[in-house]
Amino acid sequence: MIIVMKAGAAKKDRDEVIRRIKELGYKPHVIHGTTRDVIGAVGDERGKLVLQSIESMHGVESVVPILKPYKLASKEVKVEPSVIRISDAVSIGGTEIIVMAGPCSVEGEEQIIETAKAVKAAGAQVLRGGAFKPRTSPYSFQGLEEEGLKLLAKAREITGLPIVTEVVNPETADLVAEYSDILQIGARNAQNFALLKKVGQLKRPVLLKRGMSMTIQEFLMSAEYVMSEGNQAVILCERGIRTFETATRNTLDLSAIPVLKQMTHLPVIADPSHGTGNYHYVAPMALAAVAAGADGLMIEVHPDPERASSDGPQSLKPKKFEALMVKLRLVAESVDRTV
Ligand code: PEP
Ligand code: MN
Repeated sequence: MIIVMKAGAAKKDRDEVIRRIKELGYKPHVIHGTTRDVIGAVGDERGKLVLQSIESMHGVESVVPILKPYKLASKEVKVEPSVIRISDAVSIGGTEIIVMAGPCSVEGEEQIIETAKAVKAAGAQVLRGGAFKPRTSPYSFQGLEEEGLKLLAKAREITGLPIVTEVVNPETADLVAEYSDILQIGARNAQNFALLKKVGQLKRPVLLKRGMSMTIQEFLMSAEYVMSEGNQAVILCERGIRTFETATRNTLDLSAIPVLKQMTHLPVIADPSHGTGNYHYVAPMALAAVAAGADGLMIEVHPDPERASSDGPQSLKPKKFEALMVKLRLVAESVDRTV
């Protein structure tokens, strides 16, 4: 249910409503609007009628059901787009397109610092790099783990770029949150509900990737798991889905971008690197994603892709990344955005 407060309702009325929601066994989520606040009351759907009684409380305009199964993520709760703050200088969901770039895996100090400097010089606003890697094979490189996190923090110190890195299990989530500005949930963990709940309790924005075989509605339900724990700062990432096509690693579902934009207030980004699996296709799909309305991009960049520990074939060399950023500015401008 959504409790819509009257425009200009007093804080004490709002607090009283929150108290009552809790008393009835629901979780309140206050969403500040431009003219009025609304409070999402989420919990067991069977008790809807009892929530209806809140309508008679002071300062309350109306109590309306949220019809969509994804409640806090839906536009029913919040029509205006969510702008998520990542650092003092970087927010996502506004007019600026946010580019997160860097290697698939952090491999060593020189590699991550060199890449961080290069992507920053080209105009990226966030550094990506995996320290805990969710690999399909147990025999593949699993990441430098805490050492990798320390190297990312060092790269942030040198370049000023905030960092995004993956969290692979609830046990190491607090550790990753100590170092990282954004917590990435990978495609393979997109329905790991224990992990989603855990990051929902942490105070860091979450970059949630779409699972390989997830419908858009299932994707939003995963976002709902994070949000219903209290963390509203969720960034959705389309990274390609499994189809019958084998010419590309995945099929980047570009139409998911405008579809999600219609369904949710959350920012949506695209990852053409994992979406295609081949560096030749990364630039055209990155440009297309921005034209389709993406709020940002995640792009793998490596100084020496031939020797990369993971995902070399889909990684751009810094020069190619720089050339992409130049074209991206033109496409962004044509859809009234900046980079
Ligand atoms: C990654 O970003 O390096 C990654 C493993 O991505 P995905 O979860 O989309 O496969
Ligand atoms: Mn990768």
